[in-house]
Amino acid sequence: MTQTPLLPDNEPIFNPFAQPSLEDNRPLLIAGPCSAESLEQLRVVAARLSQSKRVHLFRAGLWKPRTRPNTFEGKGEIALEWLAQIRAEFRLPVATEVASTEHVEACLKAGLDVMWIGARTAVSPFAVQEIANALRGTRIPVLVKNPMHADLKLWLGAIERVESTVQGPVWALHRGFSSYGMKDYRNAPMWEIPIGLRACRSDIPMLCDPSHIAGRRDLLSAVAQKAMDLGMHGLMIETHPEPEKALSDPEQQLTPAALFRLLDDLVIREEQPTEVQWSGLSSLRMQMDSVDEQLIELLASRMTLARQIGELKIKEGITILQLERWREVFSTRTEWAKGRHLNVDFIQKMLEQLHKESIRVQTEVQNRGK
Ligand code: PEP
Ligand code: MN
Repeated sequence: MTQTPLLPDNEPIFNPFAQPSLEDNRPLLIAGPCSAESLEQLRVVAARLSQSKRVHLFRAGLWKPRTRPNTFEGKGEIALEWLAQIRAEFRLPVATEVASTEHVEACLKAGLDVMWIGARTAVSPFAVQEIANALRGTRIPVLVKNPMHADLKLWLGAIERVESTVQGPVWALHRGFSSYGMKDYRNAPMWEIPIGLRACRSDIPMLCDPSHIAGRRDLLSAVAQKAMDLGMHGLMIETHPEPEKALSDPEQQLTPAALFRLLDDLVIREEQPTEVQWSGLSSLRMQMDSVDEQLIELLASRMTLARQIGELKIKEGITILQLERWREVFSTRTEWAKGRHLNVDFIQKMLEQLHKESIRVQTEVQNRGK
């Protein structure tokens, strides 16, 4: 395929993916709007971002994978010309999401610097393979977001498919996992999964996308800090000149000024003193923190259900203690635990505690109704 960039690349611009620049520039920062809406919108935000010299790569989505039809689905190919103009005017490398062969071909033709595979595409090995084939032999850096659901092997597989065809760097981009009933975050971070990926592929740099994890401006900086504390290499943060008016993801985008404040507050800690300490104890502890966080979430959901069951029992005039049900809960969970090689004694003690607490909560409900 012959590639004719919209603008000839006479002068090389800073390549954020070059190693050693990676270590010197932590966090490597990708910023720009969720979607390209107009050339003017891109110019306003790129002007502010490029002035700061802290942004290494400009992002904007052109083809937007929306959950429901008849919403804004991106400006499509026309916006490639806008990105090429941003690149030339502000000397910022530019990136967008690709989800098909046609997208890849259009981006190659326009001379885009970086492409990323989105979370909805990363779930499909067929789609990822198609993109990898379209990128065959190119030196374009590719970012692979984690798939929507929490499957480390699927993410790894998507990375491997791209690695097998492209000659440029392939990076991982953590954006959280779709999780039913998640309250605070839009997507559950499940930090143990990116940590797991780093543990088996420490050669692949890992970026974090706090925007799509948090889904809310006020939670962004805590997620970004956590990513830095976990030693991730960079951040992708959606930035819009007027976030509330954005055509996609208005709740999570930041103005450039708010982005710079977030960066000012970010603490970039030195690497841990020894490799062993970092990759051993602390990495396991961080995975455990994340699992415990999920355990607490689950316990809270269980107690909410216990309360609702209590209300129903009282309404229907049945006793709080249902021996048959308790026997069934006790024996099924014991069997499940055996299947996972958990200590039966430990699990049964825990089940007794859970049951005791459910009864306490339901009694509370009953007494309230008196
Ligand atoms: C995006 O980056 O705008 C996007 C759609 O991300 P994700 O694939 O993580 O949902
Ligand atoms: Mn978005």
